[in-house]
This record gives sequence, C-alpha cells and structure tokens, in this order.
Amino acid sequence: MAGVADFVREIIDGDLRTGRHDGRVVTRFPPEPNGYLHIGHAKSICLNFGIAADYAGSSAGSRCNLRFDDTNPEKEEVEYVESIQDDVRWLGFSFGDQALYASDYFAEMYELAEDLVRAGKAYVDELSDEEIKAHRGSLTEPGRPSPWRDRPVEENLALLRRMRAGELPDGACVLRARIDLAAPNMKMRDPLLYRIRHATHHRRGDEWPIYPLYDWAHPLSDAIEGITHSICTLEFENNRELYDWVLEHTGVSERHGCSRPQQVEFARLNLDYTVMSKRLLRGLVDDGHVSGWDDPRMPTIAGMRRRGYRPEAIRAFADLIGVAKVNSVVDVGKLEFCVRDDLNWVAPRVLGVLRPLRVTVTTWPEGGVDELTGPSFPPDVGMPGQRAIPFGRDLLIEGDDFLVDPPAGYQRLAPGRTVRLRHGPLITCDEVVEEEVEDGGKVVELRCSHVPGSVGVNPPGVTVSGVIHWVSAAHGVPAEVRLYDRLFRTPQPAGPADLNPDSLEVLAGAVLEPSLASAERGSRWQLERLGYFVVDGVDPLVLNRIVTLRDSWAAAGAGAAPERPVASASAKARTRPPRRSRAEYRAEARVRDAVLAERHATWPAAYGLSDAEADLLTGDRAAGDLFEVAVAAGAAAAAVARWVVNEVPGSPGRLTGEALGALVAAVEAGEVAGPAAKDVLSELVERGGDPRAIIAERGLAKVDDESALVPLVEEVMAAHPDKVGAYRDGKAALFGFFMGQVVRASAGKADPQVVKRLLSERLG
Ligand code: ATP
Ligand code: MG
Repeated sequence: MAGVADFVREIIDGDLRTGRHDGRVVTRFPPEPNGYLHIGHAKSICLNFGIAADYAGSSAGSRCNLRFDDTNPEKEEVEYVESIQDDVRWLGFSFGDQALYASDYFAEMYELAEDLVRAGKAYVDELSDEEIKAHRGSLTEPGRPSPWRDRPVEENLALLRRMRAGELPDGACVLRARIDLAAPNMKMRDPLLYRIRHATHHRRGDEWPIYPLYDWAHPLSDAIEGITHSICTLEFENNRELYDWVLEHTGVSERHGCSRPQQVEFARLNLDYTVMSKRLLRGLVDDGHVSGWDDPRMPTIAGMRRRGYRPEAIRAFADLIGVAKVNSVVDVGKLEFCVRDDLNWVAPRVLGVLRPLRVTVTTWPEGGVDELTGPSFPPDVGMPGQRAIPFGRDLLIEGDDFLVDPPAGYQRLAPGRTVRLRHGPLITCDEVVEEEVEDGGKVVELRCSHVPGSVGVNPPGVTVSGVIHWVSAAHGVPAEVRLYDRLFRTPQPAGPADLNPDSLEVLAGAVLEPSLASAERGSRWQLERLGYFVVDGVDPLVLNRIVTLRDSWAAAGAGAAPERPVASASAKARTRPPRRSRAEYRAEARVRDAVLAERHATWPAAYGLSDAEADLLTGDRAAGDLFEVAVAAGAAAAAVARWVVNEVPGSPGRLTGEALGALVAAVEAGEVAGPAAKDVLSELVERGGDPRAIIAERGLAKVDDESALVPLVEEVMAAHPDKVGAYRDGKAALFGFFMGQVVRASAGKADPQVVKRLLSERLG
C-alpha cells in the first residue's frame, strides 16, 4: 500500500509546526559494535540518515549521528567498528567528521548518576541478580523493596564511589534508580543503571570498572548529542517511559541547552528466508557454514556488496517497503526485485555459457570468422554501447538449450529444429553426436547448418523455435561461475538446521564472450538469459551471480512468471536510471498475479476509481482485499479507496476490511472527525477491534457543538497573542497553526468545518 509520508516524518512535520525542538531535526543510528550490519540495519540507516537529508532544507538544521553504543566491554571489537563505518559510507550516507561513541560520555553519565543519588532517586543495591528479579514481582503482583532501598544518601554515594574506584568485585552490588516498585510497567520497578565489570574496553581501556546499562546510557547519549528524534524498533516501546524518566530526573537536556529527545518506535524489518540476529549470523561464520561475514549469501551489508548488490538497490528497497508501526515479514522477492531493477539500467548485456555443449556449424568454413555486433543494452533501457561478437565454425551453447525429445512448446534447440543464435544467424540441428556412457548415450556435440543471410532477418518459410545464447569456442574466455541461491530453504528459518544445502554451486567450465576478457573486478554484467553477475576475480576470471533475471522461487510457486521485467512505455527515451519505484513493483506484481491483473482491469469501472487509485490498490493482494471487504461492509468505495491509499500503513497489522469499512462509514456519517478517526485506525492496526466500540470507549465522537468548541478556540487565541497579532498583520499561513491547536485541544474530536468557521469569525 502506498501511504503518504511515513508516520515518522509526520511526527517530525508536526514538531516542526509546533516548534517543539526549535526547528531542529537530529537523528542517530546507534549500532552496538558486536557484529556486521545486516539488511535490517540498512533499513534503520536509510530511515535515520534519509530523514536528516530530507529535512536539510526545511528545518533549522538537520543531521544524523553515527554513534557506537559501546557500553558493553566484552563483546565489542575494533573490526566491527570499522566495518560498520564502511557499510554506512558505502550505502551513501555521511556522518559528519567522525563517528561518535557512547563511551565518550561515561564521565558525564557518572556525574549524573551521583546527582541522582544525591537527590534520593538512586541507590546501591547489594541483592544478587536473582534476588532482584524475585523482588521485582510480576504483572499481577507489585515488587517488594530491597533491604537496601532506603539506605541513606551519604552511604549510597560512598558505595557508588567505591564501585567507580574499582574497589568492589564484579557482582558485589549495582546502582538502581528509585522509581516505583508497584509500577504497571515492569521497566519502572527500580531499573538497574550500573553494573560492576572489571573488563577492558576497546577505547577506554581499564579506566572504567563500572558500565552503564542501556536504559541509562541511551537517553543520556541522545540528550548529550542534542538528538530530537530517537528512532528505535518496537521492542523498545516499554522502555520509553523510563527513557523519559531519565531525561526528566537528570535534567541532562536542559544542561546542554537543548529540547528533550523523544523516542519514536517503528517496525523492525523481517525478511523471509533470512535470519537477522547478529548472534545467529555470528554462529554461521564461527561454525564455518559460510566463508565469513561477507559471504555473498549473507544478509549482511558486506555480503550483499560482495554479492554485487549496489547501494542504490538497497536504498530503493528501504523506500519500497516503507516504515510501519506493526511488525511484519517482508517477501525477500521484493529485495531481489529492487536489485534486478537497479541492475537493468547499468549492467551491459553479454553472452556466456555456463554448462557448454559443442556445436559445429558444418556449413561454415574452417577458420572463417564473422564479426557480428550486439548492442550493450536493449532499446527500452536506451543506454549507448555495442561490442563485437566473433562467430565461427566451432560454437558452444548452453547444455540445457538442447533436448533430444522436447516437450510441446519447447522454445529451444532439438533435432531438426531451427533456432536463432542471439545477435547471429539461424542454425538448424542436423545431427546429434552421442558418446557411450553407462546408462545410454550422452550428447557431446551437435552438428548444425546455418541459414545464409539470416542475421537480423527471418527468411520466409522458416519456423524459428526461440533464441539461444552462445559463444565462439575459439574466442571465448574461460571462467569460474558461482551460482548462489537462498541461504535458507525455509521461509522462517530458526538456525543452521534450515540451511539450504544447494545455496552455492560452483561451475568451473563456463565460457564467456571475448569482450569480457578485460572485465574489471567489481564490474557488473547481465549474461543474457542467465542473470546478473559481478566480477569477483580476474585472471582467472571469476563471476558471482548477483540475482537471476526473474524470481525463480515465485515462478515455481505461481506458475506463470514474466520472461522479462515489464518495461514501462516511458522508459524508451531514458538515458539514466530513474528512481525506480513502487509503481514498477506493482506493475510487475500484476504480471505475475492474474487476480491483481483482473482487479486492475475491472475496478476503475466497477468502483469509480481513478487510474492512480486503481494502480495503488492492485499492486498487492493485501491492499485490494482490504478495500474489497471494506466496501462490501457498506462503506462508500471512493472514501475507502482514499483511506487505504493515504492512511493505511504499509502493513495493516490487525486491521480487517470489516473494521475499516465500519470506520470509514462512521467518518462519512459524521460520527467521528478525521484526526480522531486516524487514532482509531492506529488502534485497529495495533490491536484490532470494533471501531464504533473504540470511538465510544475513548469518547472520540465528533464534537460539533459550538458551545463546546468556542472555549477551546478562545483559549488557543489567548495562549498565542503574538501569533494572533501576526495573523491580523497579514501572516495568513498561521491559520493552519490555529486550526491544528484547536483540533489538538479537542483531542482530535472537533469538527474541522465548525472550528474553521469559529476561527475565521474570531481572528477577523
Ligand atoms: P541484534 O539483536 O541482532 O544484535 P540489534 O538490533 O541489537 O541486533 P544494534 O546494533 O543494537 O543491533 O542495532 C542498531 C540499530 O539498528 C538499532 O537502532 C536497531 O533498532 C536497528 N535495527 C536492528 N535490527 C533492525 C531490523 N531488523 N530492522 C530495522 N532496524 C533494525
Ligand atoms: Mg541492540
């Protein structure tokens, strides 16, 4: 589903309107240097750095920091610190002069911890980890206080200093915040702030025998750097209350003269056929299941780079999947689609044969060579370039392109049949040479005749059974070709037991057209009909397959897959790859899926949809199903289409078509105002339920009663006399500000039409 600007950017836009962070937009990407980055991290990088780039022109200053969350001394290694910086740069982002380190703030964090102790808001606890856990209670039972909870401030301070001085052994005690042992949120039940760990840190050496925990280190690091939006994954939702508590009770932002950062959670990326936990990935490396973190089959950024993916493709993928508030599993086919789609515009086409079968053109003179030419790109890509392709008597074709006894519809070579050699003449198979092997005969050579004058022309009366690729045996260059398949064979792999045993196939005897003899390492090519390849070694030549030309997994499941990606008509004249879009993805999905194609053809008339709406609603099944069911539930099609296209996030979570239909009907009937309805939608996405019940329970019914709205309008005007003045002096753009404030004061319930009228009357 399309969705407009994602919800994170909506929050930022709102903050820019209200001036919450003085117009600044500062994000950060905070990896722990305990492994290589994976494609999930890439999503977070694209989001955080992408926001900094997007708001460069429309804010008082925007940037994204790369900050190593190096608060865990034992697991971290310099190798990871370096690979992470390389990966972020390779993806195309810059992080100012240098990377930042949470460990650089240890001194200030410690100072703030002493302040907290002095204020009676933290204490040193001597209970063991197990005892602390047992004292913490459960969701149904409140926690019990530790005997050390009411220790006098001076004693706490003295002990904390002894911890800091390294006088106490590991595990002797911890520093805990003194918050609320009965809090419904377990994270607030006196969380740990520091542990004693006599360990060497990769930057700080042996300077620190105590280390801060995430919930202490993270908000403080954010505040010290003046972060405005601390974007993290959904698992941290429960930590938000503690994050805010730390900021409030340390006053760290005020100390640095900045607004307090706010935590915003988004759905982490999960991909099928992939694992994304660093622990599991490290296991694959350590146990030798792959050749390293940068094995081309690994979902790491280093692996994808080695595999031949370009950063453009990974950024397009992040863009395609969007940002959602609900976790879901993304089809890895979408990533492969983006890779293919990116390479289509940059990888020159060449010919190569992976499993060669000898062809002798008996009608061609021994030693005679014809220089054929082939364009480097097809016309729909529109890029220039061509190369010479020598043709002679001895050729090699793909072993799979010949069958002695072909099934109906076979579009390749067989005895007596004629095919076209790509960029060359037609040949006819006259004779099959077999060699005796144990269980019968093995085809070792085909003796063919060529059709004179057939280069670029189909002579009348000749039936051509397809086009095949080939290489001149005398001119071809030998190469090793590595074919990669998915690393895991199951959609939700749990570990090494689910590895795909056939994820790597090495072909030692491939032969490529001679123009590849001087190919540079890292250059990318399309071997026609075989896929996109990257040169991973020269002399001898080694090629890695980046991706096949079409989704062979989807094709195996769904039957018909397009032979080639659909090219839009407007692609003809392009000379540069455009920003490849979700629109292309939707178009391809319709080629693959007949249900989508049918919807695309019939829905505009059936439901009165615009072309753009029909396109957006028929790009995947989920969006269309939701639309169809919501309309069947009785809501107006035009309104449902608007909601699905603009408001429903990329992943609809627990939202059902029935619930969406009921919500849209309630909006159309004037029972609930737009902004309140969006809150209801978020709740439906997160938790499901009945929209009318949610509206009633949460008191969100639309308020259009003037007597209730007039006081809100007056309050807002009284609170912003300067803006009222500015508006009356001609800053008409402020009208939106007033609308927003009044609607917000009504918790989204005010009828915007009524507010608009009341405001215009009073502002004059
Ligand atoms: P792991 O649990 O595998 O070690 P992690 O999430 O702890 O991974 P970090 O180094 O802490 O790894 O992650 C750095 C940043 O990347 C965090 O802000 C985290 O939210 C984000 N991130 C990690 N995995 C994903 C994912 N799958 N999708 C989106 N963002 C992710
Ligand atoms: Mg982590």
